[in-house]
Amino acid sequence: QTTLTRPVITAEVSEEILGPRRKQVALFGGTFNPVHIGHLIMAEAVGTTLGLDRVLFMPDNQPPHVDHKSAIPAAHRVAMLEAAIRPNPMFDLELTEVRRGGVSYTIDTMRALREAHPDTDYYFIIGADMVNYLPKWRDIDELVKLVTFVGVRRRGFTPASAYPIVWVDAPLIEISSSTIRERVAKHQSIRYLVPDAVAAYIEKEGLYLD
Ligand code: ATP
Repeated sequence: QTTLTRPVITAEVSEEILGPRRKQVALFGGTFNPVHIGHLIMAEAVGTTLGLDRVLFMPDNQPPHVDHKSAIPAAHRVAMLEAAIRPNPMFDLELTEVRRGGVSYTIDTMRALREAHPDTDYYFIIGADMVNYLPKWRDIDELVKLVTFVGVRRRGFTPASAYPIVWVDAPLIEISSSTIRERVAKHQSIRYLVPDAVAAYIEKEGLYLD
C-alpha cells in the first residue's frame, strides 16, 4: 500500500488535460430586509460543504409575487449586506438585479450571468420555504438548466420538490427578516441576531421604526 504525499496530477497538468477548471459560485438571492445571521450561517454552510469558490449575496430590486410594501430602498439593504459580508473572503455581492431595476426575475439574471461568465457553474441557494414556490418561478424549466438549486432546511417547512435540489445541512436558525423588523419597531434588542455593524446601521439610519 502506498501513501500519496502529493497529488498524482498537479493543478497545472490537470488544466492542460481537462481545460481550465470551472469556477463554482453560489448565488444567494433574497430581499435581505435586513440581512440576519440565519442568512450568513446558511451561506457559510453551503460554501464550505460544497467547496465553492464564492458565495454571492444577490439582493433583489423587487421580488415577484411578494407584497413589497415593507421593503426599504435597495441602497440601505445593500449597505447592510456590505457590512455583514465584509469579514468573510468567500462572500461577495452580486448587484445585477438592483442595477437592472424593476421586478427581479431570476431567469433574466441567470441568462445575463451565464452569458457574461461562461466559465462559471452557478448554484442558487434557497430556504426550504421557497422550495414549494419553485413551480411558479418564471421559465423554471429553463432556469433549472442554468443553475443547480441548493436547498437549506428551515423549521416548519417540509418541502417536496418536483425539481432537482441539492440539500445542504446547516444549523437550523429560527430567525427571519420579519422578526428583526418587528423587534426594531418594538424597541427590542437585535444584538446577536444580526452582525453588530448591521445593528449599528439600522440604529443610525432609524430604519424599521414604524
Ligand atoms: P422575511 O421574513 O422578510 O420574509 P427572510 O428572513 O425569509 O425574510 P429573505 O431575504 O426573504 O429573508 O430570504 C432570502 C432567502 O433566505 C430565502 O430563500 C429564504 O428562504 C432564506 N432564509 C432566510 N432566513 C432563513 C433561515 N433562518 N433559515 C433558512 N433559510 C432562510
